[in-house]
Amino acid sequence: MKDYKLDTLCVQAGYTPKTGESRIPGICQSTTFFYGDSQAMADCFDLKSDGYFYSRLANPTVTAFENKVAALEGGVAAIGCASGMSATTLAALTVAGAGDNVVISQACYGGTFNLFGTTLPKLGIECRFFDPDDDAEKIEKLIDEKTKFILAETIANPAIVVLDFDKISAIAKAHSLLFIVDNTLATPALCQPKKYGAHIVIHSTSKYLDGHAAALGGMIVDLGTFNFKGNPRYDSFNIPDESYHGLVYANLPVAFGTKCRAQMIRDLGAIMAPMNAYIGYLGCDTLALRMARHSSNAAKVAAYLSSHPKIEWVKHASLPDNKYHGLAQKYLPDGQGGMMSFGIKGNVKTCDKFMESLELITQETHVADVRSCVLHPASTTHRQLSPEDLVKAGVPENLVRLSVGIENPDDIIADLSKALEKI
Ligand SMILES: *Cc1c(COP(=O)(O)O)cnc(C)c1O
Repeated sequence: MKDYKLDTLCVQAGYTPKTGESRIPGICQSTTFFYGDSQAMADCFDLKSDGYFYSRLANPTVTAFENKVAALEGGVAAIGCASGMSATTLAALTVAGAGDNVVISQACYGGTFNLFGTTLPKLGIECRFFDPDDDAEKIEKLIDEKTKFILAETIANPAIVVLDFDKISAIAKAHSLLFIVDNTLATPALCQPKKYGAHIVIHSTSKYLDGHAAALGGMIVDLGTFNFKGNPRYDSFNIPDESYHGLVYANLPVAFGTKCRAQMIRDLGAIMAPMNAYIGYLGCDTLALRMARHSSNAAKVAAYLSSHPKIEWVKHASLPDNKYHGLAQKYLPDGQGGMMSFGIKGNVKTCDKFMESLELITQETHVADVRSCVLHPASTTHRQLSPEDLVKAGVPENLVRLSVGIENPDDIIADLSKALEKI
């Protein structure tokens, strides 16, 4: 499938039926698999053959979705996880343990911020946050011999910061350090981090990959571009794994992916459910079409809002005066996605009135699906914070987050326009 273009891979990659089999993957709703002889099963357990034996380790429907996302990202393997958060957790624990540290962009998803800021430190993993706008020298100072990876989002949720791939990949290269990218809001339809030096990609498939707000899921993609062999930073890849017959992961063609599945999925069990894999697989069929529409709709909405007298500011990388417009032209030339934020001239009450006046666009905690939705953090997710603390957290009280769907752009703009008239 390697030579096909991305939009072809969206509909064709991941699963090829044999004669008489279903054209799309079936939902293999079974925990376990039958073996007639014990040697065949033993070979599976030894990773010598790749048959299925228990759905916590692998399942045919999940495999189809994994193969599709791996193809879209240009990876050598992918691992379906229960959610985006479990994908991030398992990716982190595949390389980091007590006494290690990790370097994370502070412009990241709230759940990711909590994971690295609160939960992983309890396991002895220290997290060092950096500002993605900082220059390379400042970010590099955070790295020492105990650092296991550097992580950032292609388009940060909800800050809408576009990642400077060249800056981070040069740092990773100079330190022989693993570079992990959360590509959830860009998706491989708009950006393939592999082209810009990433080694591992993670996704919340709950967002654009599924695209219909129907199923939670996460994905870890091993791009096969990192050499663990002999790298003193990654002892656990170079010493035999006694829990797996002395396997040395660095010697395998899929080092990270195998270690992640053999240790983390096996021991922590946060695997994707077959039904969710089926839904995600179908969603990806239309990914390229949807991302083009999300992006063009969002660009139109951003242009409309930025010229509206009741709007103070708009953040979307399609706008020529956006801070990240240059980076977006380099890394997201075909579209900048459907996520944006804007500030209404006024306070929490003005925003409430605006939100209540919307008819087509609904208020939701979700983002990145086919239906346009809004969230006003100051009166929902961040309502405990004072106006000063809201500013510090990067979510001023007048900020509205908008996830632009694939409806007709005229209807989206008309809905925004009517609601703005009411304030
Ligand atoms: C939503 C999201 C996550 C978490 O994904 P879940 O599937 O909700 O666990 C992680 N990263 C980004 C960028 C997200 O938008």
